[in-house]
Amino acid sequence: MIKGIILAVVLTTCCLRMQAQQLYLSKYTYETNNPIIGKISAAGLPLPHLHISGPHAAFFRITKDHVLVFRKKPVDQTSYQIRIEVRSSARTISQDFQIIKDTFHKNGVIAHRGAWKHSQAPQNSLASLKGAIQLDCYGSEFDVHMSADSGLFINHDPQFQGVALEKATTSELSTLHLSNGESLPTLEAYLVEGMKQRGTKLILEIKTSTLGKERSMALTERVVRKVYEMKAQAWVEYITFDYDVCKKVRALDPYAQVAYLMGDRTPEQVASDQLSGLDYHFKVIQSKETYITDAQKLGLTVNVWTVNDSDLMQWLLKRQVNFITTDEPEQVLNLNTLLTK
Ligand code: MG
Repeated sequence: MIKGIILAVVLTTCCLRMQAQQLYLSKYTYETNNPIIGKISAAGLPLPHLHISGPHAAFFRITKDHVLVFRKKPVDQTSYQIRIEVRSSARTISQDFQIIKDTFHKNGVIAHRGAWKHSQAPQNSLASLKGAIQLDCYGSEFDVHMSADSGLFINHDPQFQGVALEKATTSELSTLHLSNGESLPTLEAYLVEGMKQRGTKLILEIKTSTLGKERSMALTERVVRKVYEMKAQAWVEYITFDYDVCKKVRALDPYAQVAYLMGDRTPEQVASDQLSGLDYHFKVIQSKETYITDAQKLGLTVNVWTVNDSDLMQWLLKRQVNFITTDEPEQVLNLNTLLTK
């Protein structure tokens, strides 16, 4: 009897969890001459009957291997909006997707907290994001914290103007302003601004909570959910110092780009946990130079922070790291060396 109750609880929990599963696409961008978009999956669940609906459904079909492909040649620059549904007698899972042309810059330069140094824009402001976009950077980095009532805000430190972000409410944080008059940006505002263009990626750092691991995990879930809600997957790449948060992002989205910042794991460890890259301090990379080729051989990308010295930039460019995160994006761009993606 007790065993039966336990089994029923386990099955109910499993079902609830399954109902909450999202559908995933392995890629959210297209190239005009390639009809293949990407693989559809649902966290290892079978996909018995897949159905496409939405405004641009007629442009697509799904192969028997669950790959989303164009039926006809894509129209240049179009943003395609579709809904994919998995139907079975027991349940239906659906997810809206946005698929855009891959016009992202390939220079590998990531503006650290946006481009702010020469414009005097505040770090982590919408103005600094716009600055990085205007420079044609590959990416613009920013930091995300969660308020006491689960609002998502952009700031580097856990405090802003003496207010502890994690202990304040959304309405309290909404009254705060940056030095240029902007409101303290929300993640939503940042994604809205970033998604107005398709040249610069949004490099989203999930900050480690000052209130403990559970809170970091809750922040991670909330962030990934927000990216899905806003259909921002084509733009967003995740970075974080907390290895458990990296693994959580991977569990929540098997195809997201997620890189580890702390520098204390070997390329082999990072690859075995199926993360997508290393994002290490330059001193780590200088002392362990073989990490660059070791990581790349394992299919990982290598990003290095925070590189503001011209000699170091050239040293890294020569070694073909994938990305350089810098407070001096203009300087790295001016070196005019193509980085491999
Ligand atoms: Mg950061």
